[in-house]
Amino acid sequence: MLDALYHNITNRLNTGILILDSDFNIVMWNRFLEVHANKKDNNVIGKSIFTVFPELPKKWFERKLSSVIQLKNQSFCGWEQRHHLFELSHSRPITTDSHFMAQNCTFLPVEVEGEVKHVCLLIEDVTDVCHYQTQLNKALEDLALSNRIDGLTQAFNRKHWEECLASEFSRARRYNYDLALVMLDLDQFKLLNDTFGHQGGDKVLIDTAKSVNDLLRMGDMFGRYGGEEFAVILPNTDLVGAEEVAERIRQTIASNTVDYQGRSINVTVSIGVAVIEAEDTRYEDLISNADIALYEAKSNGRNRVCLAKQCPTKETIVA
Ligand code: GH3
Ligand code: MG
Ligand code: MG
Repeated sequence: MLDALYHNITNRLNTGILILDSDFNIVMWNRFLEVHANKKDNNVIGKSIFTVFPELPKKWFERKLSSVIQLKNQSFCGWEQRHHLFELSHSRPITTDSHFMAQNCTFLPVEVEGEVKHVCLLIEDVTDVCHYQTQLNKALEDLALSNRIDGLTQAFNRKHWEECLASEFSRARRYNYDLALVMLDLDQFKLLNDTFGHQGGDKVLIDTAKSVNDLLRMGDMFGRYGGEEFAVILPNTDLVGAEEVAERIRQTIASNTVDYQGRSINVTVSIGVAVIEAEDTRYEDLISNADIALYEAKSNGRNRVCLAKQCPTKETIVA
């Protein structure tokens, strides 16, 4: 009577129940597992769990079960740790990336008269939790990315770029690394906008940003500093190296042609380069020095690279 009652209830549960002995043989399972594993009782009961479910990570599973038996403590394996242990089908009316049911598995020691000879595994279907959590993580990642990226040019936005510079600056100071900054400003951009329209100007910004980005190394950080002004952080780079990068950028932009509605647009950039100096105490000093060099490049005729240490001092310019 009790047996029938017990089977009736376990077979109605929407959770898998699997009882194993200490030799890893299946003693009992419920209908949930029979359906989702698509196997029949008589092919399963008395068989080794590793024969019935050859996909199980054998060593891991043996260790897990042995420790539950020896320590008489329950143990848990969630879907975030292992998406699934058993290759079971899921029946959620949602599209998921995985073919198999995501599972939360609890290993319960079954203690009879002070001895544990069996372990009961509870297998919960958490496919929908896994699906929604994965979607949420992706949305959060996209959100974090859009918080860092300039929508038009896909370069880092000013805020994120400055955060990068602040952290690179303190790292360079702490470890005595080189650090270079390249600031570039498109020449006569107002005129370009007036000639080709704002959308033509936007296309030039997009293409220019892409061209610059393609010239950089992995660790370089490229940002949109303002309207038509961009900046590149070059970690571990001295003045000679930074000048080379800047010159490459200048030449590439000058030789590129931007296609806009069947028209060809040519643009040039003026570039200021600065490297971290002993007297720089804040990352803003590096920006000011590159800015002064950029100002110099503009006043010397544009489409050129100027180096900060070859510029007149700040006082000379102000005067
Ligand atoms: P210079 O060579 O001295 O740098 O001259 P300039 O004309 O490039 O500089 P100015 O600062 O006078 O003008 C910059 C122009 O850039 C003005 C502004 O309308 C335009 N601009 C800023 N942001 C954008 C943008 O997102 N799209 C477009 N199309 N134009 C922009
Ligand atoms: Mg400009
Ligand atoms: Mg400008």
